[in-house]
Amino acid sequence: MIIEQLDEKFTLHRLWEQSDPEAYLDAIAPRIRGLANGGHHVINAALLDRLPALEIISCFGVGYDHVDAAYAGEKGVIVTNTPDVLTDEVADAAVGLLIATLRQFPQADRFVREGKWRQGAFPLTASLRERTIGMVGLGRIGLAIAHRLEAFGVRVIYHSRTPKHGVGYTHYPSLIDMASDADVLIVTTPGGAGTQHLIDAQVLEALGPQGVLINIARGSVVDEPALIDALQNRTILTAGLDVFEDEPNVPQALTDMDHAVLLPHVGSGSVHTRNAMGQLVIDNLTSWFSNKGPLTPVVETPYPSKND
Ligand code: NAP
Repeated sequence: MIIEQLDEKFTLHRLWEQSDPEAYLDAIAPRIRGLANGGHHVINAALLDRLPALEIISCFGVGYDHVDAAYAGEKGVIVTNTPDVLTDEVADAAVGLLIATLRQFPQADRFVREGKWRQGAFPLTASLRERTIGMVGLGRIGLAIAHRLEAFGVRVIYHSRTPKHGVGYTHYPSLIDMASDADVLIVTTPGGAGTQHLIDAQVLEALGPQGVLINIARGSVVDEPALIDALQNRTILTAGLDVFEDEPNVPQALTDMDHAVLLPHVGSGSVHTRNAMGQLVIDNLTSWFSNKGPLTPVVETPYPSKND
């Protein structure tokens, strides 16, 4: 449906269908004015330099750490993403992952399927009750998760670089301090250089042996070897992970562990929400090429630009 709409409105070049994408790109590069970037294809300075007529990159997803948006901005190329339309879906998924991880629902499902119930009851699990939840990032998705958690009757605190106006949750300028006071960390920051390995061995140690890490943000935000160490040595209780450092390659050390819950980056992955995201990719391109500006430009490529 998304491809069909793009095909109807624009001259669409399907790079992903080419047997030799590099040669194809060389041939069409001077004519390319817009990019629709589905998935997490890297758009770096080298690629941007190959596209002299490029005006806009419309990204599918709210995270755009795979796009060199700062360089695009320098070249006057607009980058757009798909915020808001996926917030509720990802927040639902985060809360589902939190409960599934604490109450071991995937493990319990395996227990039933493997016929183990006949030999005895499933062991008692950890609980969400009486836990303090530390939100790492309290933007669109973090706030939507925090609102949901209020209904669960748990305390919410948060860490971000700047305190958020108009929220009643306690702000921690120091992540280590928050990790010491929290029983669960839920990571909802962007990926990229600014948050690389924000969750490191020190933070995990501060979280402590009953601590739970939920990562619905980007794999790069967590030092994966440090997390594996913490899980193997039981210096934290468990983790629920939707994202990994080198997707789709999940380290065997994680898949070997039964006390973590692993999802294949499905935070926004419903038909409803992926359609809404796809529509916003198209709407950004349509609006731009109708001279109405981009609908959802990222901060690195504001519109109108500061020089306009
Ligand atoms: P957002 O509204 O921009 O919120 C980002 C939050 O992170 C803000 O509270 C920001 O606060 C904080 N933050 C940024 N850099 C930080 C740092 N270095 N240290 C501490 N906090 C920092 O973004 P969003 O729409 O909620 O999306 C968040 C991310 O979720 C996306 O970028 C994407 O990577 C991920 N995501 C994942 C899925 C999935 O399927 N798993 C789906 C959608 C999105 P300050 O600026 O004040 O620090």
